[in-house]
Amino acid sequence: MGAPARIAAIYAALGCAWIAWSDAAIGAIGLTSKQMVIAGTVKGWAFVALTTAVLYRLVRGLVRDAQAMAAEAQREHAEKLKAANLLSTIAETSTDAIFAKDAAGRYLLMNRQALRMVGRSADEVIGRDDRDLFPPAEAEQIMAEDRTILDSGSVRTFEERVTTAGGAMALLTTKGPIPGEDGRPIGVFGITRDISQRVAAEQALRERNEQLAQSNADLEQFAYVASHDLREPLRMVSGYVAMLERRYGQSLDEEAHEFIGFAREGAQRLDRMVLDLLEFSRVGRMSEPFAPVPLAEVVETARLNLSAVLAESRGNLVVATGLPVVQGARGELVRLLQNLIGNALKYRHADRPPVVAVSCRAEGGNWQVSVADNGIGIGPQYFDKIFHIFQRLHTRERYDGTGIGLAICRRIVKHHGGQIWLDSVPGEGSVFHFTLPRAD
Ligand code: ADP
Repeated sequence: MGAPARIAAIYAALGCAWIAWSDAAIGAIGLTSKQMVIAGTVKGWAFVALTTAVLYRLVRGLVRDAQAMAAEAQREHAEKLKAANLLSTIAETSTDAIFAKDAAGRYLLMNRQALRMVGRSADEVIGRDDRDLFPPAEAEQIMAEDRTILDSGSVRTFEERVTTAGGAMALLTTKGPIPGEDGRPIGVFGITRDISQRVAAEQALRERNEQLAQSNADLEQFAYVASHDLREPLRMVSGYVAMLERRYGQSLDEEAHEFIGFAREGAQRLDRMVLDLLEFSRVGRMSEPFAPVPLAEVVETARLNLSAVLAESRGNLVVATGLPVVQGARGELVRLLQNLIGNALKYRHADRPPVVAVSCRAEGGNWQVSVADNGIGIGPQYFDKIFHIFQRLHTRERYDGTGIGLAICRRIVKHHGGQIWLDSVPGEGSVFHFTLPRAD
């Protein structure tokens, strides 16, 4: 019920109640006709006073409500205005381009950044469509996106290539529908970010990666071919040196024999280096496909292959129980463990028999395998160097080797998606750790 109807109803109810009550009261008292006239006058005035008081309170309440509502509406309007002003300030100062178009594709609005991007003034774009701003093929593409938004009524993001006054640009644009009063789209709004630099950087990175992959492949191919082909002339050198010794050995003096010995040794050493190089180049290229491999079996094969060195050094290989099954190339994993255990035996301390411990623990999504020894140890300044090809810390006379074993280890670990590193205290021992991704 509206306020006027409420007042009328209250007035009518009061009147009726008053008449009924006062008539009954006067009747009950039993007045004379003169007294009745006076009572009627009093009754009338009392009714006026009563209704005036009630109506005054009612109207005052209504007026207050109306004033409060008007004040609230004004406050809301002011807040909306403030928010709209704020939004328009943000839109104008935004480094992203913001625009709105009607359903026919005509621009209704472009913020400062959008105008800067297309290199036009507001007068030149408002009321125009994309065909006036971009080359035909690009405009078609942009308008097709708009149609998708209008048809689907959803928000989507597009990567666009456009040519503006400033040149070719890569843009990332999020577009959405502008809803009409009935909720159906009556236009499209969009927010565009210039991603030209990012796209150029990604492209450069992709190209560099491709070049790197190509040069890696070339290098691997080179190492493989070179080590293959180098062995042939090397065999010839060894063969002729041996023939020289056989045929003319008796007529040569002791010094000549010594020289021949050096030549043979050099050839043998070069052959070993070439073979190691060949093996290095084979990791990842020639390996068997990955399959589940029990690590305990890998360590046992390595132990078998190293049994002579183990016996000769009176070494002790301690293998933890419960080694996991890992995903990998069995041959490469054997080579990895064999190189690490072999080094632990080779670089043993002169004062004590070697003890080598192989263990494994779960570490995040990886297995971390550790090979610990009680050997001569390595200074921290060499922790990186020793993983590089042909890098050694000792002379050949002291410890035999070509300096490629750990480089092969690192390549194998990388091929399996892991990492290799070490902890060591010179004079006390080293622990080589490597990770392998867990298959489960
Ligand atoms: P090589 O053993 O043929 O020299 P590696 O690549 O296997 O080649 O090792 C590189 C160098 O790292 C070795 O010359 C040695 O100085 C050092 N090294 C490797 N393993 C150990 C170890 N367990 N203890 C001490 N030094 C080691």
